[in-house]
Amino acid sequence: MTIGIVGAGQLGRMLALAGYPLGLDFLFLDPSPDAPAGQVAPLLCGPFTDRRLLARLARRCEVLTFDWENVSVDALRAVSSRTRICPPTAALAASQDRVSEKRVFERLGIPTTRWRSVGSYAELRRAIRDIGLPGVLKTRRLGYDGKGQAVIRTAQDADRAWESLGSAPLLYEEWVPFDCEVSIIGVRSRRGETAIYPLNGNIHAGGILRLTRAPFGPPRWQRQAARYLRSALEHFRYVGVLTIEFFVSRGRLIANEMAPRVHNSGHWTIEGAATSQFENHLRAILGLPLGPTHALGHSAMINLIGSMPEREWLLAEPGLHLHDYGKAPRPGRKLGHCTIVERTARARDRRARRLLAALAPEIRIP
Ligand code: AMP
Repeated sequence: MTIGIVGAGQLGRMLALAGYPLGLDFLFLDPSPDAPAGQVAPLLCGPFTDRRLLARLARRCEVLTFDWENVSVDALRAVSSRTRICPPTAALAASQDRVSEKRVFERLGIPTTRWRSVGSYAELRRAIRDIGLPGVLKTRRLGYDGKGQAVIRTAQDADRAWESLGSAPLLYEEWVPFDCEVSIIGVRSRRGETAIYPLNGNIHAGGILRLTRAPFGPPRWQRQAARYLRSALEHFRYVGVLTIEFFVSRGRLIANEMAPRVHNSGHWTIEGAATSQFENHLRAILGLPLGPTHALGHSAMINLIGSMPEREWLLAEPGLHLHDYGKAPRPGRKLGHCTIVERTARARDRRARRLLAALAPEIRIP
């Protein structure tokens, strides 16, 4: 049985690696001939919007999924008569536009930042008047890892931000002085069964995720985040893995964004949970029973960004799990990650601090 995946990045690669033990085959579509998943599975090489290649992919696969949230919804819908597409393209479309995403959160009663849509300089001034300063101006589409956004603290910042981003449709939102950032990952199967992972505590720098610890936070946050995620899973009659990221401010969860796919903050589930997010995504889209999602210990996942550390050094660390995505080094690029699983949260944090001192000294665990 073959799964078609649009996008052959590291997420696709980890989906394939999780699927092989289940007896599944994979076929990817990606514009880059040396994309990470293309090193472990066959790859159709061409643009994501290539209708002919998408049709070929659809013909050869039991089900079509994606590892990137900016794949073209129209191109996917054009092949929807030939194959099943999971997660639903409605969820994909909502996540691609920050305004639609905010509307979904509001409709489902999921608290989110105060925001205004901005299509002109006059609207930006009005939005700043309504929402106040500081705030963040973001492109509605194609923003990721902190790209396509600017923090506005003063009137001059506003002019600068407008100059750099004003050519695209925008959203202005309040700046949240958050205590921490968390994300919740869950899965809903074709049969409507759901399962939710323990909450992730995330630390970003420059908009890029650097460290995830799980399980994280008090049970109240877990319950609340799980309730919000379940309502989104049901709303879309979702099939597959869905992630929502939140700011935590004065004990309140405020949704930032959602991702209709397996997520970087869930990489720890490969070694640290009873079933990984990747395996559960595959189980869900194939209508197989979901696996349990509980944590097997206390995990920390560190992203390896820009250049790969010495493999010898990393592997000398007992129990450290290394994932090298096979990508060429480039500043700011996610090249791999490593995970540790400890018996207690204290032992995990102690070890994570030690590893971070060598791998990412700018990242501090509070
Ligand atoms: P995003 O692309 O929206 O996920 O933003 C990337 C990161 O920028 C977030 O994880 C936060 O660390 C930071 N950020 C984005 N929006 C805000 C906001 N409204 N208030 C505070 N920090 C933000």
